[in-house]
Amino acid sequence: MSSAQGSARQVREAVDAAMVVDRAGWSGAARSAEVVELLAARERLDALVHAAVGEWDRDAAWALDGSVSPVAWLAHRTPVTRQDAATLVRSARHVARHEVTAKALGAGDISVAHVQVAARAVKHREDLYEQHEDVLLDAARALDPSAFRAAMAHWRRCADAVDDHDRAVKEITGSYLDIVSTFEGVGHLDGRLDAVSTATLVRVLDRMEPPDGFDGIAAPRTRAQRRADALVRLASGERPPPINLDITVDIDTLAGRPSPDLEHGCCEIAGSGPVSPAVAAMLACDAAIGRVMMRGRSEVLDVGRQTRMLNRAQRRALGIRDGGCVEPGCTAPAEWCDAHHIVHWTAHGPTNLANLELRCRRHHILQHQRDLQAALARRQE
Ligand SMILES: [Zn+2]
Ligand SMILES: [Zn+2]
Repeated sequence: MSSAQGSARQVREAVDAAMVVDRAGWSGAARSAEVVELLAARERLDALVHAAVGEWDRDAAWALDGSVSPVAWLAHRTPVTRQDAATLVRSARHVARHEVTAKALGAGDISVAHVQVAARAVKHREDLYEQHEDVLLDAARALDPSAFRAAMAHWRRCADAVDDHDRAVKEITGSYLDIVSTFEGVGHLDGRLDAVSTATLVRVLDRMEPPDGFDGIAAPRTRAQRRADALVRLASGERPPPINLDITVDIDTLAGRPSPDLEHGCCEIAGSGPVSPAVAAMLACDAAIGRVMMRGRSEVLDVGRQTRMLNRAQRRALGIRDGGCVEPGCTAPAEWCDAHHIVHWTAHGPTNLANLELRCRRHHILQHQRDLQAALARRQE
């Protein structure tokens, strides 16, 4: 008999012995003490179960019986429901993966309920949990499980916002265009553009080279052929035609009140697809862009088109005052810059010089990302 079975047998024998203790005539205080002790013992036992299940799962011991998963094995062979088995495996894995958490549970500093809350909240954010493990365990030690659940929910929102920040930065810094020439000078293009640049370029190229009519002789060019021709015309110095990017933005998302329902808070460029909240805020900031402001999917709050456009005198004055992008260290000239509303017009910021500054596209999106995170942090204080 292995020591594991030995330890489980000892526990059962102790419980069986306690079962037959005669509690008749016990005082209320004695009964209270007994309940407290029994629940404390159950908590310790549950911690032991988590440690044992974590090791059993790590070694894939459940597979030895031909079972397809630890949850299926537990539901089949032990008196737990499938749902409870799933919860147990998730929490046990969380303990097995995170050594400091395992120690805290083993020492009784935190309870199994805390572990369950954490295991549920860290899904797909395991790496971030590792970075914050000490702080989160301090919170678990200080808070009861239901307060800890609120703390973990807060952490999760921040984790997602951080993730979104990284994504937004990647989105605007990840553009490239590779042009490879072959022996005979023929070029092959390969590249990646952020969402706004993609929508702009596609719109411009397709405006310059609309579909050919069929003249009965030459086959019409494909869309890819037309875009290539248009790109060369642009490179040859032709002025691009004016285009409108129409965007739909969710007002709550812009204000840093992201809805847990992803569908609700969707911001998108019409005809191109969804964009991150920071990009949507940036687009909604530049008054030259048509937009539909929504609350959720159904309530239209504002349909604006170029209503908050700077006039020429304002734009010139802004160029002279700021000289270029106001982000410290950035050397982008005024011509490359957007006019950024310091207080967004959705928060009643006016379109006047005092409330405007020049920002290059990259630092414009970055500023809106910062504003969104600040709004998110304020809401969670
Ligand atoms: Zn802006
Ligand atoms: Zn800049």
